[in-house]
Amino acid sequence: MKKTLIVQAHAKINVGLWVKEKRPDGYHEIASLMQSISLADTITIRETREEGLRIECSHPGVPLGPDNLVHKAARIVLEHFRLPACHVFQIEKNIPVAAGLAGGSADAAAAMLGLVRMYDQPIAMPQLMELGLLVGSDVPFVLHGGLALATGRGEHLVFHEPPRPPLAVVVAVPKGVQVSTRWAYENYQPGQNERKEEAFRQILPAYRNRQLVNLRHVLFNDLESVTLHRHPEVAELKERLAAGREGVVLMSGSGPAVFGLFPDRRLAAQAAANLDPQRYDVFLEHTIRASGK
Ligand code: ATP
Repeated sequence: MKKTLIVQAHAKINVGLWVKEKRPDGYHEIASLMQSISLADTITIRETREEGLRIECSHPGVPLGPDNLVHKAARIVLEHFRLPACHVFQIEKNIPVAAGLAGGSADAAAAMLGLVRMYDQPIAMPQLMELGLLVGSDVPFVLHGGLALATGRGEHLVFHEPPRPPLAVVVAVPKGVQVSTRWAYENYQPGQNERKEEAFRQILPAYRNRQLVNLRHVLFNDLESVTLHRHPEVAELKERLAAGREGVVLMSGSGPAVFGLFPDRRLAAQAAANLDPQRYDVFLEHTIRASGK
């Protein structure tokens, strides 16, 4: 009988992003606190009679061929285990595309985990994360999930327990705005690093201890200077979401997604209610722990 499996692909937010120098290999050295959130795509993996990999997606803007990160990830896993490629991957897209939420990487990670589970393959998480890095810098983190301090190009990960109880998270994206991560890094002008080192060091303890007032004073995302300049509507969105003053608001990754962290769902819902649904896609979510925990 042909097998079918359904997996969830969780988005991430960057609770702080420090962009350091450009390396000889073209990547920037970064430091970021990455956090998985409940917002997720759903991927259904089906074995088929026909040879090859096929991608179907509910979102018209997502490539369906070998450019889809699910395609790339599936090929790597199937070749690694010498398994035949004869699958359909149906992606139900809920994570906004090209928004700084690592939706493509999350889908790729979910496809990898799904195939490993489908064929009961013996592989430890660190080895799977190494395979994931062949797909993209964010894939090792989203494979494991939870909370991690990421350095290097985002692949050196030190995991921590996420805040308890979870924080409520509002994610909002201005409709019709997409940002290429590559474009944002290419246009980034590095500034002074001394004050950032001290501020960045304080992010993890403030975040884990849910000290949102302290967090607001030290949190920064270097790519805001690039994306907010080109898309002033993202700056406006940040202001609107921060209007209630209870939350901590920041752009995620290269944007244009903006998130607000709130101590509870009621305050998050109040802040979300200030955002016009005609102008923004708005999601009321929460932080989550590592997959499988
Ligand atoms: P990151 O922050 O990891 O760079 P992002 O969240 O800004 O990513 P994605 O949603 O991952 O952006 O999409 C970036 C581009 O990747 C899209 O414009 C699309 O062409 C391509 N892509 C490939 N596979 C997928 C996928 N499964 N889902 C969404 N986009 C994909």
